[in-house]
Amino acid sequence: MDKCSFCGKEKKDTNLLIAGMDGHICDHCIEQAYAIVEEELKRDSEFDLNGLKLLKPKEIKEFLDQYVIGQDQAKRILSVAVYNHYKRLTQKVTSDETEIEKSNIILVGQTGTGKTLLARTIAKMLHVPFTIVDATVLTEAGYVGEDIESLLTRLLQAADYNVEAAERGIVFIDELDKIARKGDNPSITRDVSGEGVQQGLLKLLEGAIVNVPPQGGRKHPEQKMIPVNTKNILFVCGGAFDGIEKKIAKRLNTSVVGFGAQKLVDNLDRENMLQYIAPQDLKSFGLIPEIIGRLPVLAYLEPLDRKALRNILTEPRNSIIKQYLKLFKLDDIELTFEEEALEFIVDKAVEFNLGARGLRSICESIMIDAMFDSPSDGIKDLVISRDYAMNKLDPSSAHRLKAS
Ligand code: ADP
Repeated sequence: MDKCSFCGKEKKDTNLLIAGMDGHICDHCIEQAYAIVEEELKRDSEFDLNGLKLLKPKEIKEFLDQYVIGQDQAKRILSVAVYNHYKRLTQKVTSDETEIEKSNIILVGQTGTGKTLLARTIAKMLHVPFTIVDATVLTEAGYVGEDIESLLTRLLQAADYNVEAAERGIVFIDELDKIARKGDNPSITRDVSGEGVQQGLLKLLEGAIVNVPPQGGRKHPEQKMIPVNTKNILFVCGGAFDGIEKKIAKRLNTSVVGFGAQKLVDNLDRENMLQYIAPQDLKSFGLIPEIIGRLPVLAYLEPLDRKALRNILTEPRNSIIKQYLKLFKLDDIELTFEEEALEFIVDKAVEFNLGARGLRSICESIMIDAMFDSPSDGIKDLVISRDYAMNKLDPSSAHRLKAS
């Protein structure tokens, strides 16, 4: 009697049994085998550093330009750092050669200026696992909150538990400024979420073999740990560092002495002090020197002006407006935004002081009715004018946006 050579099912119990040279396979086993093939191929292609074409810094920046508006200086610094990092990974090390050290990165800039977007775009470009963690939830082991190792759990999950891929991934640690030491003096009482966490992070940044709980959460004895080497993981830290401008100004005002120094101080661009940021300012802010030493690449992000906000609406490859056009196109509706409507959206983002983050929520408020009605209305085109946008962004939703 014919049977599936894989699962042993008899022909009558299958939908289809295909005969081979000296065996059979049933429809169910074919489906399963196909799923395995797909999974394996995906795994190989998704995170394949060997097949990676190492882009030059200029090319990296061009890639970033497609997704991130402005921030030229940060992009240049980041492109070089990423280029060096992956050059270092692909280099064959011989014992007598100079070893290139890892250059973790710290990005300083107001929220919503593109720090996360930059890190995410780099991960997309490199096809490496990427995860975002918030430094504020990290605490020292044994305290309420997440252990520091948990950030590697997230990376492992992003890598589908492919340890080798995770070990070459990128971790974005957001809100690093929130774990700064409060006050300039080391405290006598334990500072569970500040300096202690910095000490814990230090080990990861430096490169160490860390035992990671695969499911995250508290360590419990039954859980089998996965050792992960952080030596080649690129850490990108971000933070707004509110108030650091004052520390920068203080340093600049006091450190310059001698002939011509006064002129230098007088010529400072006081509106944007962040551009003069230096590692010692991070120290004055409350980061421990060891952490600063492990984040040798320091870049700042500029506040986004009206022009940048306007560009963010339409220029990036997957800009908000392009996404709406596509959504409507799928229903065969030709959607257009008049320039005045776009200017209106920017005005509101500036007025509510929401930055780029607010653009999306303002657009959502304006578009929600159209997205609800148009698919049933059978209309073929829709024009969003300034009046339309103004009407839809009624005072109540405007109030809600402002409050959020
Ligand atoms: P941050 O990490 O600095 O707080 P994000 O990178 O998360 O800010 O930015 C929030 C959102 O705002 C992003 O998803 C993106 O849509 C938009 N955005 C911010 N800055 C830029 C930029 N420079 N270019 C394009 N979009 C941006």
